[in-house]
Amino acid sequence: MRRSSSLHALALYALASCQAAPGAGPTATVPPGATTVAAPAGQHEPIIDVHMHAYPAAEAFPASLDNPVTGKPLALRDGEAHLQACLAEMKRLNIVKAVVSGGTGDRLAAAIHWRDAAPDRFLGGAGVRGSEDTPLPDIRVLRKAFEDRRLRVLGEVTAQYAGRTLGDPIYDAYLSLAEELDIPVSLHTGIGPPGESFDPCCRGFRAHLGNPGEIEEALNRHPKLRVNLMHAGWPYLADTLAVMTIYPQVYVDLGALGWGLPRAEFHAYLAALMRAGMGKRVMFGSDQMYWPDRKSVV
Ligand SMILES: [Zn+2]
Repeated sequence: MRRSSSLHALALYALASCQAAPGAGPTATVPPGATTVAAPAGQHEPIIDVHMHAYPAAEAFPASLDNPVTGKPLALRDGEAHLQACLAEMKRLNIVKAVVSGGTGDRLAAAIHWRDAAPDRFLGGAGVRGSEDTPLPDIRVLRKAFEDRRLRVLGEVTAQYAGRTLGDPIYDAYLSLAEELDIPVSLHTGIGPPGESFDPCCRGFRAHLGNPGEIEEALNRHPKLRVNLMHAGWPYLADTLAVMTIYPQVYVDLGALGWGLPRAEFHAYLAALMRAGMGKRVMFGSDQMYWPDRKSVV
């Protein structure tokens, strides 16, 4: 979000909170000076992107993956080339930190690979779903990765694509683990691509399952959980605000909205969040997926 330095500061605030010592909870404050880091000459202020995706290094990218925003063909041949291209784009735009989660294949391994490739720049996220073709990972493996700090976030949790909400009992032990270790949870909310519920992967997908109002029982059962509503719950503005009001430990990110929505709608939605007093809980996210240059589109 290059055009708003205040949002950069807010992302810094949020990340500072995410990095608080276990038990510090959502009230951790910004470290002195964290929002006043001067950008080197000719560079943007430092940006934190809380919503990025990685793919297995050896995964071949189909040549047909044109960028749906710019129409440009994707010139990257595999997951490793994608990592290098994303890193170059991050350096160019002064994106100093990012939360990255795997989008296909062994999702935990993909995120850990990026984190290991650039440990100062990436925080690994555990991309989990809970569907037949993408079952939840062994919780002991997850605990170890959190304890070793190779993974720092539980998410992107794509429960909606499994026909579930975060309140589904299959996630309960994972949410308890996140609470115990003070791991933030990043949840896919809102909607998805047109036709998603007809995709063989995701026949249980339903638009209403992405309504943030659906997670209230999970928030109530897990009072220490810190949650990022990815995609800011769009288009469920009223329920997003209701949940954020009742649960101060709930944040949002703007992933995909900046490049996926008509400009006027993106601005109106962001303005509504700010007008409702949620500005300090709005984080920048690109959701770049296969296209590193989507960051600059945002
Ligand atoms: Zn998502």
